Amino acid sequence: MTDRPLPDNLHRDTLAVRVGLESSQYGENSEALFLTSGFVQPDAETAARRFAGTEDGYTYGRTSNPTVTSFERRLAALEGTEAAIGASTGMGAILMMCMGLLKAGDHVICSRSMFGSTINLIGREFGKFGVETTFVSQTEVAEWKAAIKPTTRLLFAETPTNPLTDVCDIAALADLAHGAGALLAVDNCFCTPALQRPAELGADLVIHSGTKYLDGQGRVMAGAICGPAKLIVDVFGPVVRTAGMTLSPFNAWVVLKGLETLGIRMQAQCANALAVARWLEAQPGVARVYYPGLASHPQHDLAMRQQSGQGGAVVSFDVVGNDPDTARANAFHVINSTRVLSIATNLGDTKTIITHPGTTSHGRLTEAQRQGAGIGQGLIRVAVGLEHIEDIKADLLRGLGTLT
Ligand SMILES: *Cc1c(COP(=O)(O)O)cnc(C)c1O
Repeated sequence: MTDRPLPDNLHRDTLAVRVGLESSQYGENSEALFLTSGFVQPDAETAARRFAGTEDGYTYGRTSNPTVTSFERRLAALEGTEAAIGASTGMGAILMMCMGLLKAGDHVICSRSMFGSTINLIGREFGKFGVETTFVSQTEVAEWKAAIKPTTRLLFAETPTNPLTDVCDIAALADLAHGAGALLAVDNCFCTPALQRPAELGADLVIHSGTKYLDGQGRVMAGAICGPAKLIVDVFGPVVRTAGMTLSPFNAWVVLKGLETLGIRMQAQCANALAVARWLEAQPGVARVYYPGLASHPQHDLAMRQQSGQGGAVVSFDVVGNDPDTARANAFHVINSTRVLSIATNLGDTKTIITHPGTTSHGRLTEAQRQGAGIGQGLIRVAVGLEHIEDIKADLLRGLGTLT
């Protein structure tokens, strides 16, 4: 216990290592991990008040846990929202949001380039319960506007997109949502609050997959929703308690500690990614590079304004190849020639990950859908980590330098 509450107006870097619950009576300096499913009540009357919600206090692990609370407070401080609530995974957070906000007859608008499982969850699973979804262009605000109906309850955006790094204008979408009496939610997985704070740009809710950069070292699954206390406490809290997409205390603890290094990891990984992107643009085996930090990116100016002047840590590129079969063979050659990079589909790790979206994350789309989304067979995605930049370039050059 401490009688020294944190002063107001601390910088974000300080909040990242300091905000959480107060330490216990033992004065531990590193946050405690409370591995317990239940909490002992001092007496029956207190138990009754806590279960009725008229008194604060922990009751049962599906509802809340002190380690999870520490994570929620720290993430909310970084996003600049009143509150946050943890979830078992990023998809668990999106499920929680949809269960809390939507009912049969409601209408949702989201971009066609959203994370694949998000499209399936909202479009297909919630479609079964009578929620209607319109998928629109990532970058054309006019398409979002034209899709608005009297029943529109939620606009849901993600920026930059995976794998092509298209950037949407959060402030413009917030204005549109509010003009229609709807909410704007933004999936901030790719930028994290270290680069982009959607709530400051008008978004009502911010969604996280803690599995990615927040943990940052590929260890655990986690998710969260950040937003106003009214929605977090009154709408999403009861959903978690009832439906059980609860963040485990162990995973919360890992991600809580990950947040302490988020700022410096993101700066270092963005610097590596920018160097990789610039270097790729000069390689004869590369046809096109997709990275918001490059002047050649179609939404470069918007991205620089919206993302604290950083492009993020994901770079995608097309290798040369005149037809899909040649392009795929060339992409596979580059991927198979690596000896350091991880061939995987995850991202947000200190280890650089190389992916062929056309046959993995986007492999279940039809060729027409893939072409509509701009994902060709020559496309490679690199989620840049913390290895030395020269080692990353050399690993990519092994294949790029020997394309025939
Ligand atoms: C990975 C990811 C998710 C889902 O997160 P999980 O923790 O894997 O459930 C949601 N949105 C984006 C943008 C992602 O990259």
